[in-house]
Amino acid sequence: MHRLLFPGSFDPFTKGHQDIVSRALAFADEVVVAIGDNAAKGTLLSVDERRERIERVFAGQGRVHVAAYQGLTADYARQVGAQAILRGVRSTLDYEYERNLADINRALSGIDTILLMADPNLASISSSVVRELMAHGKDVSPFLP
Ligand code: ADP
Repeated sequence: MHRLLFPGSFDPFTKGHQDIVSRALAFADEVVVAIGDNAAKGTLLSVDERRERIERVFAGQGRVHVAAYQGLTADYARQVGAQAILRGVRSTLDYEYERNLADINRALSGIDTILLMADPNLASISSSVVRELMAHGKDVSPFLP
């Protein structure tokens, strides 16, 4: 049984995030999409709104679970019994950030991180750009599942 933890802010969950989960299901039995509930980080959508949106995307897909967590990702990964943490990489900027997180999470928990390269067609999608467009009343549906 291979369970992956896919942690993130998902504010909002985009087609890029959906693609990472879908591709991971080719080699993992289960993916837990875990919304980091970080009170210090102002978000556009509440945890409940984010959870509902992600649950809708994977409705009927029994191998994807949605959860919210507080505290350290490494602790939560152990708590849910994940064999590995799943993250996506769009660019060299992401790479440096993800390498650092992966190092820390493995040092804390012994759990490795699997990095999937973003699909080139989706690599320009970021939650922050989607939020910016929403704030200006633009149609963001092309970027969302
Ligand atoms: P965080 O605040 O933890 O970085 P995000 O919701 O921004 O949370 O991203 C969660 C993960 O999804 C990160 O590993 C990020 O690199 C990855 N990701 C974000 N957008 C994309 C995309 N368009 N394609 C592939 N991976 C992505």
